[in-house]
Amino acid sequence: MLINGSISIQDQSMPVQNQIRPLRSCLLSKKVNGNYVLCIKNSMYPNCINYNVKNLEAVHAKFAKEGKITLRFKQPKHQISVKADDTKMLLMFLRQLEDIIKGKDVKIGTRLIPNKVPAKKDVNRFDPAAREFKAVDRFDRRVLNMRQLNSLILENCVLPTLPEQIGDLPISFLSLAGSKLATSSQYDQDIFWDWMSKTTIGNTLKNLNIDSVNLTIVPFEIMFLRNLQSLSLTKNKLTHLPDCIGELDKLHSLSLSDNKLRFMPARLSLKEFLLLDLAQNNFLNYQQDIDILDKFHENCKNVAREWGTPLSYKNLVSLSICSIIRDHVTFSRKNIPRTLWHLFDTVGRCGTCKKIVPYECFTSLIYFRDPQAREYKCSISKTIPWLQLLCFKCVVLL
Ligand SMILES: [Zn+2]
Repeated sequence: MLINGSISIQDQSMPVQNQIRPLRSCLLSKKVNGNYVLCIKNSMYPNCINYNVKNLEAVHAKFAKEGKITLRFKQPKHQISVKADDTKMLLMFLRQLEDIIKGKDVKIGTRLIPNKVPAKKDVNRFDPAAREFKAVDRFDRRVLNMRQLNSLILENCVLPTLPEQIGDLPISFLSLAGSKLATSSQYDQDIFWDWMSKTTIGNTLKNLNIDSVNLTIVPFEIMFLRNLQSLSLTKNKLTHLPDCIGELDKLHSLSLSDNKLRFMPARLSLKEFLLLDLAQNNFLNYQQDIDILDKFHENCKNVAREWGTPLSYKNLVSLSICSIIRDHVTFSRKNIPRTLWHLFDTVGRCGTCKKIVPYECFTSLIYFRDPQAREYKCSISKTIPWLQLLCFKCVVLL
């Protein structure tokens, strides 16, 4: 029987040695000329050291269920501590050893000791009961069997797709930072986020990290993650945030440094953040833009007059989109026509009447004010530009 693991060999005939370093080793039981022999191979004994089982003085197996045993030989006077990679194999080995000691005729396979001591394998990598999983270079579908997963780290991986079943895992922390996400087509980029539409993850996810993935647009499905408290989107290529990010009532930490943001959605201006990081962005300049604000404002009113209030809600598609968002209906992007996808990116809530309004029924204006955050980072002055949406009904009243 072959056991792989870490083994330390202490020569008890020598004066007390301080620390005996365990080495990656193989332990093989075999029968040589009618004698049962335990053979150990590692970097200290590349040609193996053999122990006759007849010389075995004691076996300490108190921690065998944790994969650890100690064997003491009288000739040579060695104490051998074994930490096996596979606990089940070690328990079988112990049973075999017990039979040999009892004098039974034990049949031993003729397996040879490997040429090379195998490196440690993480045998519990896909333990279905694990609470945390960190991928090495790619996503492995076996993760989907880990039904008690709390933390999923898919950093610096190649992720052409993410199965939507991830959304069925009860995770509270997810990081995709530094990974290579779908970039082959806009379609791939859009459906990459289907997992956000799942009920389970919508209830459990509190921390989401999507740093450094070349993100150009925040998917509208983010609004389904209603328990999200902390969102990090640093080092991306975002020029704006979707207005629907304001639907995330529990969000208190938002990191957006190192993007290309021109302004922030006004719905976040009244929110009190614990952390708001806006450093390294392209925010509109206060002095430069204040002059055009009045003009802009006047234009908004004119547009509103042209459209007229009664027109605002005649479009059935717009009406249904607004009710879907208002009533917190969760849906999967793939279940609605592709031609409607962009409408969800542009829908917003009127800053005055707070109604959800489709893009053809609102206008916008920019104003400057200080954000509210206990910890605030920004490379320009504290005051930043906010984009306020106004439905035509309200803009006429301005
Ligand atoms: Zn309004």
